[in-house]
Amino acid sequence: MQRKPFTEEQNMFREAFRAFLHKEVVPHQERWLEAGIVDREVFRKAGENGFLLCWADERDGGLGLRDFRYEQIMIEELALIGETGFAMNLHNRIVGPYIDRFGSDEQKQRFLPGCISGETILGVAMTEPDAGSDLAGMRATAQDRGDHFILNGSKTYITNGMLGDLFVVAAKSDPSNPRAIGLFLVERGMEGFSRGRKLKKMGQRSQDTAELFFENVVVPRANVLGDETRGFHYLMQGLAEERLQAGTRCVAAAQYAFGLTLDFIRERKVFGQALSQYQNTRFEMAQMSTEIDLAQVYVDRCVEEHNAGRLTPEDAARLKLFASELQGRVVDKGVQFHGGAGYMDEYPISRAYTDARVTRIFAGSSEIMKEIIARSLDLK
Ligand SMILES: Cc1cc2nc3c(=O)[nH]c(=O)nc-3n(C[C@H](O)[C@H](O)[C@H](O)COP(=O)(O)OP(=O)(O)OC[C@H]3O[C@@H](n4cnc5c(N)ncnc54)[C@H](O)[C@@H]3O)c2cc1C
Repeated sequence: MQRKPFTEEQNMFREAFRAFLHKEVVPHQERWLEAGIVDREVFRKAGENGFLLCWADERDGGLGLRDFRYEQIMIEELALIGETGFAMNLHNRIVGPYIDRFGSDEQKQRFLPGCISGETILGVAMTEPDAGSDLAGMRATAQDRGDHFILNGSKTYITNGMLGDLFVVAAKSDPSNPRAIGLFLVERGMEGFSRGRKLKKMGQRSQDTAELFFENVVVPRANVLGDETRGFHYLMQGLAEERLQAGTRCVAAAQYAFGLTLDFIRERKVFGQALSQYQNTRFEMAQMSTEIDLAQVYVDRCVEEHNAGRLTPEDAARLKLFASELQGRVVDKGVQFHGGAGYMDEYPISRAYTDARVTRIFAGSSEIMKEIIARSLDLK
């Protein structure tokens, strides 16, 4: 189905971003996969071209483009080239907004220009070895010492963990109140802040997912985001948008895998005829294309609601749940139609399959999404 049109300016933005990807990303993808990390240079180049934090106000060096469709375009284009290592959307629309929403003017002036130029790469560190879905179980602590906090603890599975220069780190800030969590801006080079292993993963191999350690790190009060006891509330505010991003990416990634499969089945001959001519293939492809089309309509509606400030956590959860499960089904069928070739690294469907598995786990697992939706159903 024809999608609701983007504006002329947004269509031009898409063209420009696509050209950027073909020049600065596609030629490096294989090398990044081998290295297990992208070049930090790609963030700087994205910044140079105006693709980082483009929502930021002009006075902070941004373009003031708050309409989520600009980010949607970038998420879709990255997915359509199968790129899962260059985590610019996390930088742009997951971590950057914490500084925008909860940071002081001084913090915005100090940090945003570097994030916009790509000199400063962002990450967010919530998850710990014993606390993922259940964030209240986190153990990292930040002790109040007046003009500074002393941060201790460890975080794991952190995206941009090696490349990151500035992390929003969640830690408990009041021993008498287990729900008091603060968000602390931890900078590269702070004494006591170190990185552990770059973790080896099933998929998304060019993404530098890592462990972070904090040992008596002195975090100046000037690096606390907002109220140091309201971090939980702040994190919850960002989650609907994070899930909107995740759902947007999953549907575009499903479309990418569908396209790879379509190309393959048209060419592949079995028992004397193209694989695309068998009824099983035709029915499965018809089913997938229907589900992707319907999911796309829901993505676009959620974007509209988000732009109007009305996207509810439940609707964002519905999108994330359905889109990630759909992506899982599409990549699985895609591999099946490729036969043995689908299991070979040299076929992009194989990477699309392993890259997809995590989308049902991170940004809130499918089970957590169902919990959020169920809570809104008045089931008693
Ligand atoms: C590649 C990758 C990148 C990541 N990047 C980041 C990052 O940048 N920053 C960050 O902070 N974290 C990051 N994470 C962590 C991610 O958010 C967590 O892995 C996720 O929240 C799940 O937490 P967990 O791994 O502790 O699993 P658990 O929470 O231990 O879950 C295990 C299983 O239990 C299920 N479960 C949990 N609670 C319930 C419940 N109430 N009811 C029913 N079932 C339940 C889950 O759905 C899951 O199936 C990343 C993870 C990965 C894999």
